[in-house]
Amino acid sequence: MYVLRLGHRPERDKRVTTHVGLVARSFGAHGFILGDIKDDSVIESLRKVCLRWGGRNFFLASGVNSLLFIKSWKERGGIVVHLTMYGLHIDDVIDNLRKVENDMLVVVGAGKVPRIYYELADYNVAIGHQPHSEVSALAIFLDRLYGGAELRFIYPDAKLCIEPSERGKKVVKCEPREE
Ligand code: SAM
Repeated sequence: MYVLRLGHRPERDKRVTTHVGLVARSFGAHGFILGDIKDDSVIESLRKVCLRWGGRNFFLASGVNSLLFIKSWKERGGIVVHLTMYGLHIDDVIDNLRKVENDMLVVVGAGKVPRIYYELADYNVAIGHQPHSEVSALAIFLDRLYGGAELRFIYPDAKLCIEPSERGKKVVKCEPREE
């Protein structure tokens, strides 16, 4: 399962794009792609998180042509889920999506999303029908898809782990774990 973000406005959207990437990495995706815009600083800051908190195999790319990427994803048998407030309510499609065995590409927008993406998507899914954000939409979608299991996930190659504490911050070196 991979996440494609449809472009961003450099400077203005950098932080939000990084947060979309962080949600993708933390909540169970295998990779994050920023379409249409090359932004090495976003990719670099996500890579730094992967180095410390794990995910050296987490795929990261930017500057990919979004339309071509989606078309070739579909040609290779993958399915495309586009998150949009205009789509079908998550509650009405999540059972079907959980059964999907094909590779899944989850697409989120930045500015106005052109019509073609609605047409290419196998599913247009609404996380409720109110406008909010690509970060919240992706987080809720992945949480529903994985039923909350993703919140326990720790990457096998993580260098740092958190010891939960009622107060304060406890960060320890991770015990080596099976890949
Ligand atoms: N105004 C843009 C449009 O009409 O296409 C949407 C911009 S919104 C800030 C950025 C992205 O957040 C959207 O493209 C969509 O992926 C996601 N998003 C926002 N609200 C959503 C919702 N209720 N359900 C699903 N996705 C949502």
